[in-house]
Amino acid sequence: MLSARLQHICECLPSGVQLLAVSKGHPVSSIRLLADIGQIDFGESRLQEALPKLRALEEIRTLRWHFIGRLQTNKVRNVVRSFDFIHSVDSLVLAERISRISREEKRSPKIMLQVKFREDPTKGGFAPDQLIEAWPNLNQLPHLRIIGLMTMPPISLDLDERKNLFRECRVLANQLKLPHCSMGMSSDWREALEAGSTWLRLGSSLFGDRSNHVNTHTDITKSG
Ligand SMILES: *Cc1c(COP(=O)(O)O)cnc(C)c1O
Repeated sequence: MLSARLQHICECLPSGVQLLAVSKGHPVSSIRLLADIGQIDFGESRLQEALPKLRALEEIRTLRWHFIGRLQTNKVRNVVRSFDFIHSVDSLVLAERISRISREEKRSPKIMLQVKFREDPTKGGFAPDQLIEAWPNLNQLPHLRIIGLMTMPPISLDLDERKNLFRECRVLANQLKLPHCSMGMSSDWREALEAGSTWLRLGSSLFGDRSNHVNTHTDITKSG
């Protein structure tokens, strides 16, 4: 089942578009199964849940881990040590901290800046004009590589409205000469593809329903 879903999704991806398998709420065994058939990129949104999984899969050296959840200041060091990509950088202060800690840890994470194109109290992110204002400072930070923008539409938007929002994200990324847009989840990845996404973040459409797999120590209500 899992491998058939992966194959089906990969067949829909144009070249230049990559699949991030969002494995939060799913066990190590499912990740291993996908890794065995060639999936390299996996996303997690909570550090406490992610670290034991990363440790359990350490021997698969080719895996690349993406942090996609809200990043608290006191978690930056652990995230920088363990993750290759961070999709959820939502302020200049956070980016500066990641830069400083990356130098100390001799790492250079790839960064997506999270942008909020509509009012949404449930989500973090730069407002577009805020991002443009902060850009000269962001762009000169050493020890990290800003490669794109990430966005999540409010759940109240219908698919047409989401596609419009995704287009706005693509336009802003192009304006900043950033190649990547991390956008599109299970319910709206086709719209994101049409609007120019380069990273689809898929959880349930790939792994199935998270609630089937959650152990009692994992609070998925906070996982975004
Ligand atoms: C959980 C999550 C996803 C995947 O969501 P699905 O709807 O299961 O595909 C993508 N991005 C972020 C930031 C998430 O927290």
